[in-house]
Amino acid sequence: MIDSHAHLTSPQILSEVDAVVMRAKEAGVEKIINICTDEVSLEEGLKLQERCPGIFNTAATTPHDVEEEGESFFPIVKASVEKLVAIGETGLDYFYEHSPKEKQKAFLAHYFELAIQSGLPIIFHCRDAFEDLFALADEQYKDRKAVLHCFTGTKEEAKKCLDRGWMVSFSGIITFKKSSYFEEIIQYVPLDRIFIETDSPYLAPQKRRGKQNEPSFIGEVVEKIAEWKGVSFQEVEKTTTKNISQFFALL
Ligand SMILES: [Zn+2]
Repeated sequence: MIDSHAHLTSPQILSEVDAVVMRAKEAGVEKIINICTDEVSLEEGLKLQERCPGIFNTAATTPHDVEEEGESFFPIVKASVEKLVAIGETGLDYFYEHSPKEKQKAFLAHYFELAIQSGLPIIFHCRDAFEDLFALADEQYKDRKAVLHCFTGTKEEAKKCLDRGWMVSFSGIITFKKSSYFEEIIQYVPLDRIFIETDSPYLAPQKRRGKQNEPSFIGEVVEKIAEWKGVSFQEVEKTTTKNISQFFALL
């Protein structure tokens, strides 16, 4: 399996990251996409990649933090771009709106430009902001590779992602007790357009609730997708591994 989205070098995981990676391997997670959101997590992510085969890095300031850190981190991301497999997570979050909407849009535009220049795909974070995300992407990032991470939108929004050629990624949220909402969406999105992710250290799946999430827990997400799609665990594992490997051009 591949965990397409984990914050391995976030402060919550960093002190035990080698053990976390080891447990992931034991659980059958051969590769992990590590999402770096600031200078320290990127620096540590690049070191981790050196010593652990199967770890790949992405970088961007999240929409939450662009006001405080967007300006200072952008040149660092740009300078490291050759070592990355994607730009992200970037996007819009109007649910929390920790940074002003205009700032979020401005940085999204910077990251569109960087992704186009570097030829890397984008990882989107989007909450309560699909209308603006689709409009901006249609203007500035048309017909290019992207994945909508930790999808929590509607079926119509999933359709609009698919129409744009984007991949749709599901996290442990789909395993929560009140998650029946996702059944219809998962049945709707074709398996060859689906990614799996943990978003560690956040969003531990149902059977591990209350614990800090980590990539070794990803099997529960695979199980849920297999159940709702009426296919085997192995088929979900095989297809998502292929989807994620191709998207990030993993070796
Ligand atoms: Zn994330």
